[in-house]
Amino acid sequence: MYDEDLDSAGFDTRAVHYAQRRTAEHEHSEAVFTTSSYVFDSAAHAAAVFSGEQKGNIYSRFSNPTVRTFERRLASLEDGESCVATSSGMSAILATVMALLQSGDHLVASRGLFGSTIRLFDVYLQKFGIETSYVTLSCIQEWQSAVRPNTRMFFIETPSNPLTEIGDIVELSVFAHQNNIILVVDNCFCTPALQKPLQLGADIVIHSATKYLDGQGRAVGGAVIGNQDQVGDKVFSFLRTAGPAMSPFNAWIFSRGLETLSLRMKAHSESAAKIASWLNGHPKVTHVYYPGLKTHLQYDLAKRQQSAGGGIIGFSVDGKREAAWKVVDNLRLMSITANLGDVKTTITHPATTTHHRISAEQRIAAGIGDNFLRISVGLETVDDLIGDLDRALSKSV
Ligand SMILES: *Cc1c(COP(=O)(O)O)cnc(C)c1O
Repeated sequence: MYDEDLDSAGFDTRAVHYAQRRTAEHEHSEAVFTTSSYVFDSAAHAAAVFSGEQKGNIYSRFSNPTVRTFERRLASLEDGESCVATSSGMSAILATVMALLQSGDHLVASRGLFGSTIRLFDVYLQKFGIETSYVTLSCIQEWQSAVRPNTRMFFIETPSNPLTEIGDIVELSVFAHQNNIILVVDNCFCTPALQKPLQLGADIVIHSATKYLDGQGRAVGGAVIGNQDQVGDKVFSFLRTAGPAMSPFNAWIFSRGLETLSLRMKAHSESAAKIASWLNGHPKVTHVYYPGLKTHLQYDLAKRQQSAGGGIIGFSVDGKREAAWKVVDNLRLMSITANLGDVKTTITHPATTTHHRISAEQRIAAGIGDNFLRISVGLETVDDLIGDLDRALSKSV
């Protein structure tokens, strides 16, 4: 099948087939091109490729066929014109801000961002004269009053990590575009299987491929998706110069991951919905954060914007840090690890792990208490996961 035929195909067909380039060996599964450079037919051919007169691969920091397959497939799934793959989710964010902002620009971001993203903005962007203001994701008035004449970018995660707060992508994009501002959405928690930010008006989508795109906790990687000018030219130009490129082997793993993405996201969401409503009724649980729960403050918006609730649940236990740690330590099935989006269920105490680097003040402002835990629901039998939580909660103080 040719990609032109696949352009109108369904999501899962594109997830399996899009952008595969079969070699003369007629392999069924995609080949991995583990090569750092490429050869030319002649000196004139080399000169033509270097000058851009002729298309061709030069060096794997610039382009690689295996990486290209992943990029084109993900661009298709996100309904984007262009995608560039990066060595990690953080380097996808770094490449985006380095390529599209400059000294003197102002960035407005939602408060509950991934810990390293906050640090990147506050410590490193700040150092080069780019200031960041933080506002409440769901409060449009706060976004409106944070805008300055030099505001160039809005940056959000929806659902947010780890409190699953929802940002209204349509509303924010309309407001952003009225002010000539680029809206960037980190789509890590939903993936294009559940939410398509570009269709809703966002300009750029960021991924940590490390999470659900791989889906099995095997490799670190990232991606930026958007239009040709912003991503295909500007972000790509930064990437090929600065160098945080994705390795071909990791790209091969991520392309395998995309093949099963929507199946997995459906299964993660179904199990998470069951666990969230079970937790909601538990006497030792004081609050459950899950977009698929009717008690979620933004349930209606989540339902409009996402096709399912996703696999991440936040919950607070009755008590302080000791109570939360006791739950973690009494679990047998769930892994104590900061990663998420794995087939294996993971549990995290954000205040002392993923979010420990940000100040206590910022943590409190973001609503991440010491009694708060985050679960990334995997693909195990859901009753076994509930059983594990039941045992651990009954042993907590
Ligand atoms: C993990 C994560 C990142 C960073 O991705 P890495 O691949 O770890 O560099 C960014 N945003 C969100 C929401 C994440 O969960």
